[in-house]
Amino acid sequence: MAVAVRPILRIGDPRLRQVSDPVDDFDTPELHELIRDMFDTMAAAEGAGLAAPQIGVLKRIMIFGIESSSRYRDVEAVPTTVLINPEFEVLDEVRQGFWEGCLSVPGMRGYVERPAGIFYRGLDQYGEPIERSAEGFHAIVFQHEYDHLDGILYPDRLEDTTKFGFVDELAAAGIS
Ligand code: ZN
Repeated sequence: MAVAVRPILRIGDPRLRQVSDPVDDFDTPELHELIRDMFDTMAAAEGAGLAAPQIGVLKRIMIFGIESSSRYRDVEAVPTTVLINPEFEVLDEVRQGFWEGCLSVPGMRGYVERPAGIFYRGLDQYGEPIERSAEGFHAIVFQHEYDHLDGILYPDRLEDTTKFGFVDELAAAGIS
């Protein structure tokens, strides 16, 4: 099957600011094609996660997963996951900070603190339930992708806006 890489919307596009709709129909050819395209798009961009609104599909669908990548080489592995209509609760209120990047904010990073431990649930593309507790980068990437479904981008969550900038400038300054 041909690889289908879709254009990734960038910050400023109002579609990234919409609240996405739940998915009603599972295990359909359209949904499977969308999920395949999301994985192809994420892989081509070397991302750790992708939410459907980032390719202009305003549905509550996210994918994520990481073995090792150039973008996030210092973090632990995260299982490859399709999560639809997700929900979560915070298990550990302690906040952990990561230098986050986003395929919709290319070339930039920012330091964001989020709850360190969560429990999430959702459905996969077949409608089968998924329930997991997550911590570390796994918890961060889930919360980052979840935000996309509500039209929130990580720069909205910066507490210190000096810890935000272009990757090469931050590196040159020794900040990140
Ligand atoms: Zn993102």
